[in-house]
Amino acid sequence: MKRIYMDNNATTAVRPEVLEAMLPFFCEQFGNPSSVHWAGRAVAGAVEKAREQVARLINCSPAEIVFVSCGSKGDDFAIKGTADALRDKGNHIITTAVEHPAVLNTCKFLEKQGFEVTYLAVDCDGMLDLAALEAAIRPQTILISAMWANNETGTLFPIEEVGAIARKHRVRFHTDAVQALGKVPVDVQKANVDLLVVSGHKLGAPKGVGALFIRKGTKLTPLIHGGHQERNRRAGTHNVPAIVGLGLACELAGQELALKMEKVRRLRDRLEQGIFARIPEVKLNGHPTVRLPNTLNVSFAWIEGESLLLNLDLKGIAASSGSACTSGSLEPSHVMGAMCVEITLAHSSTRFSLGPDNTEEEVDYVLEILPPIVQRLRDMSPLYQRHLTCEECSIVKRI
Ligand SMILES: *Cc1c(COP(=O)(O)O)cnc(C)c1O
Repeated sequence: MKRIYMDNNATTAVRPEVLEAMLPFFCEQFGNPSSVHWAGRAVAGAVEKAREQVARLINCSPAEIVFVSCGSKGDDFAIKGTADALRDKGNHIITTAVEHPAVLNTCKFLEKQGFEVTYLAVDCDGMLDLAALEAAIRPQTILISAMWANNETGTLFPIEEVGAIARKHRVRFHTDAVQALGKVPVDVQKANVDLLVVSGHKLGAPKGVGALFIRKGTKLTPLIHGGHQERNRRAGTHNVPAIVGLGLACELAGQELALKMEKVRRLRDRLEQGIFARIPEVKLNGHPTVRLPNTLNVSFAWIEGESLLLNLDLKGIAASSGSACTSGSLEPSHVMGAMCVEITLAHSSTRFSLGPDNTEEEVDYVLEILPPIVQRLRDMSPLYQRHLTCEECSIVKRI
């Protein structure tokens, strides 16, 4: 059976070059980079090289990069570390309703600790309202946290404008750039970001490693107390092979971004246009143009996203549902909920996230397999049967 992977926003394979660069650091160069002897010194150099590689990709100084154990850890550190460091200044945080759970659930935790959080709404395209953001700022606001690119829809927030507003009001600005990195240019200077989060496994490095950019002069309370690693900002022995991998993945992403993403965009557009040409009553979720080049999130009216995914999986196609299915919850995804997507459409939201290794043949295979599956599932749906006799009932036309 064919195996087609179109779930790159969930995770990516480690690139072969990245794996090769990591291998010597398991057995031959196994030292602890904090040790002063020969074994440690050799490895410390590799960690510092990786720090430079990450820094170059986002245009900061290597001293402003702290390695962390994953993207979630980076978000947690940025938000809780700020809340604690700026507790005397205020207790108000602004974020958006469509953030990754790593941000949303950290904010919910802080609410229980006495912080106030504003969750900004987005419009029907998943776009942020800058006027609403500015209006939400209070004298007690200590942090704005807004993601660079949405993992479910690919919608890109106007990060430079958010940064300008943060600067104007002198509020610290954190952005989860996990999905943006390697897919669109990311520059912490242009966007005036103070804290930015990177995750290895979303861009061809291994799982379990990430980086946090902390702008020079940004006070952040360390959350892991222990040794003096990472200039006292994060205790714990470095995961050297993974850090080396993250560094190289960042360097390669910087070199290849324009070329690879043009290819990915063409494939994504072919898939998108093919779906709309072949299947009626489909709705695009997310911004039609201001969107990651690899992401396509669509709802197929009258059917359930989970059944579609299982049927695609039987044909070897890996995609993902936008809904919070993993928890066994019947709630549709919080992102769809925030974007005024009609509830039955939210339940059928399906995400295809492509990567540079996908091919035109794979896209065409999906376009061949998908329409009959959608039709079969619709034929099984009583709602769909009823609507066939009722022109007014078309969900997609109504919205
Ligand atoms: C995957 C992801 C994360 C979490 O990163 P991990 O390294 O898996 O913890 C955070 N934010 C966004 C937007 C993501 O897509």
